[in-house]
Amino acid sequence: MTDAPAPPVTLTAEEARVLGCLMEKAVTTPDAYPLSLNALVNACNQHTNREPVVSYTEETVERALEGLRAKGLGRRVKATGQRVVKHRHVVEDALRLDAAECAVLGVLLLRGAQTSGELKGRTERWHRFRSLDDVEEVLGRLARRGLTAALPRRPGQKEPRWACPLVEEAGAPAAAGGPAPAPAPGPPPSPEADGERRRAPQPVAAHSIEVRNPADGTLVRSVAVTEPGEIAQKLARARAAQPRWAARDVAERVEAVRGFARLLDAEAEECAGTTTCETGKPIRQSRAEIRAVAERIAWYVEHVPRIVAPRTVTAGPSFEERITYEPVGVVAHVSAWNYPYFVGCNALVPALLAGNAVLYKPSEHATLTGLRLVDLLHRAGVPVDVVQAVVGGGATGAELVASEVDLVSLTGSYATGRSVLVATAGRMVRVQLELGGKDPAYVCDDVDVEAAARSVAEGAFYNCGQSCSAIERVYVHETVRDGFVAALVAAAERLRVGDPTDDATDVGPLARAEQVGVIEAQLADALARGGRVLTGGRRIDRPGNWFEPTVVVDVDERAELMRAESFGPVVGVAAVRNDEEAIRRMGDTEFGLGAAVFTRDRARAERILARLDVGNAYWNTADRSCVRLPWAGRRHSGTGVSMSDAGVRTFVREKAWHLFPG
Ligand code: NAD
Repeated sequence: MTDAPAPPVTLTAEEARVLGCLMEKAVTTPDAYPLSLNALVNACNQHTNREPVVSYTEETVERALEGLRAKGLGRRVKATGQRVVKHRHVVEDALRLDAAECAVLGVLLLRGAQTSGELKGRTERWHRFRSLDDVEEVLGRLARRGLTAALPRRPGQKEPRWACPLVEEAGAPAAAGGPAPAPAPGPPPSPEADGERRRAPQPVAAHSIEVRNPADGTLVRSVAVTEPGEIAQKLARARAAQPRWAARDVAERVEAVRGFARLLDAEAEECAGTTTCETGKPIRQSRAEIRAVAERIAWYVEHVPRIVAPRTVTAGPSFEERITYEPVGVVAHVSAWNYPYFVGCNALVPALLAGNAVLYKPSEHATLTGLRLVDLLHRAGVPVDVVQAVVGGGATGAELVASEVDLVSLTGSYATGRSVLVATAGRMVRVQLELGGKDPAYVCDDVDVEAAARSVAEGAFYNCGQSCSAIERVYVHETVRDGFVAALVAAAERLRVGDPTDDATDVGPLARAEQVGVIEAQLADALARGGRVLTGGRRIDRPGNWFEPTVVVDVDERAELMRAESFGPVVGVAAVRNDEEAIRRMGDTEFGLGAAVFTRDRARAERILARLDVGNAYWNTADRSCVRLPWAGRRHSGTGVSMSDAGVRTFVREKAWHLFPG
């Protein structure tokens, strides 16, 4: 959403129909989108939801598509391994529209002039407007940018009708009241150049990613990938918009983020459903994450203004020393899927509050959740150029990281983090990396074994074990080993594994199909080295990515299961003789995210935890993060900080002021 005029462009009636159809089908039949030429012809000639009804030939539609491409509004798409060329629109980017704006404009393109009441009813399948006021607010926004115009009332007509002034009326130029026709996005429209573009074969570059439900492997939706050229355009727009955003009063940015939190709260159930559908996270846990992220957002809203406010550190009679905090500029945030709200908001919210623009690439395994977050931010008043989604997998992430952004914030595996460091070396940009872990827990000889086992099971199996700070290794004092192991196995067996949309489910599928194979290989290696599976140990034979909650005991310390990240519902247990052995074995890792000690003796726990090279120290708890505390992995677990005052400062640059009145 922005009130800046959109790049003006005029559309023939055919182009308007084709564009409207692409916009409609992207939302209403996402599985079949982008559209083949044939599907598009049918969509144009549909008898319902179209005014007027037309009967276009393939040639007419081809010509309209060509026109849309030349005007920077359409693209040809060829998915990997497929021969058929398909078609998609790019109006969100070209005209800078959010989802609500797309819905209103799309229906106007398909059905001509309408009242706001008609629009509310007819956009229902595209976007849920809560009230007529909401529709009118969007119409007003679009009108300020020349994309809609209220028509003069006819005699006897009570409500004004709205039209899209970009559309030429039967051969006439675009309707009066709209924006002056001007260059389309992209190269200036000299007739020669335009003719040249029409003759030249159009590049086929775009691809789409398939969002699949990990619970059964079914296709949820295909989403068009952001191409490298588009990343450069997004960056240019973000760079142009960022100073205006930073120049706003911080209270305005706070208000937009508060609005975002309200929308997230109002639409929490839908958001949770989306996340569960694309990641397999049990619905209760998706809801819990959304509730918890609201607390984080509230903390940022309350504290970021204080943290980034200028500070005078010395005020002497003859000089003053001050620190100011300036936004870094354009932030690239490359995100993970396992906690998409936490991870996304830990970068998006403080970065935006501090006055940055953000190019946000959600994980390819949580794309729909990420797009939703961006949509909520736009609807809450963050300008569309200030926060933009970049869609795609690792290759797209690498393109984004390689672009001229000012800061890279990435959450992902050690391998990815390392490649980001290599890719940014020499550019002198700040890099903040939250990477993998192999967190250990030590169960001392003085514990209540039942309680300790319950906590360890929670730490190991919550979110199907897919947490960077999940407990993946347990060292248990040999004197309580048998009792603790029996309680841990019982706790694992009590977990309800099943349909993630069911409220009763504790453990759902793994988000990524390939991780099932990784776990199988780790288990085979552990067993070959003398480990024993006491419960679980097998993939579950059903469609989707399923693995049983698994406890393996007597695991040799050289086993992969005790060294490499498992990121699944499996935990290895080994007995130790004393605290010294526990400290040695807990510290025998390249990771440094967290470590937990279970004991009744706080001093003992603190002594042990102080000797471990980790960013998070847990006493009688595990797998926990809190916005008031810094989140920072060490060694292969990352570099830089998120959350807390220090994490907010990740997104600002300090300026030191040495002020001498003379
Ligand atoms: P991943 O490294 O495969 O992907 C993470 C993100 O990086 C994705 O958006 C991906 O598309 C992108 N990416 C992949 N290759 C890239 C490249 N070469 N350049 C730029 N971007 C690239 O990680 P994943 O498997 O999706 O997520 C799980 C990992 O994330 C685990 O290791 C987990 O421990 C870690 N994680 C860490 C934290 C933390 O706070 N430390 C939190 C959540 C997840």
